[in-house]
Amino acid sequence: MTPPKHTCVGCGQIKAQTQFYWYKKQRTVLRNLCRKCYAAWLLSDTSGKRITNAASRGEITEIHADAMRVTLSNTRAATNEQRKAKLRDLATKQHEHRRFLEERYGIRPATPNVADQAERRARYEADTAREQARRDKISAVLKDRPRAPRAPSAADRLAAAARERSLSDPLSNE
Ligand SMILES: [Zn+2]
Repeated sequence: MTPPKHTCVGCGQIKAQTQFYWYKKQRTVLRNLCRKCYAAWLLSDTSGKRITNAASRGEITEIHADAMRVTLSNTRAATNEQRKAKLRDLATKQHEHRRFLEERYGIRPATPNVADQAERRARYEADTAREQARRDKISAVLKDRPRAPRAPSAADRLAAAARERSLSDPLSNE
């Protein structure tokens, strides 16, 4: 005898019926979502209300609810860290650019004596235009060639780590 199977309305996969069970007052009830999709649905409400409601209805145990709250707060922390890393990247780039302007052209951030900066700025803009023209020429040549892979930034690395973490969810028991 083959164990009963059931199709998930979320992922469309045919899975063992036990993947759809929950226990309501000692009766076994079938969900239309598999465990994985149901967990994803609960976690997709980042406020955590869906988890709390499901726990209060007895659709998940308090242990599962707590585990999912941990997942949620980890995800939230990772998202914040990602945002901060992006801002750090941006600040570093702006800082480098300011230093470059000062060292190469003597252009400083807004000062009362703006007059002596105008000429320097003009020089920088002329150089930039020349450099842009040079790059345009190169990219016209390289247009149809494949791009070299870019080194991942700090934000990229954190995003990848967060994606990896989100794959291990507490309700999945496959
Ligand atoms: Zn599913």
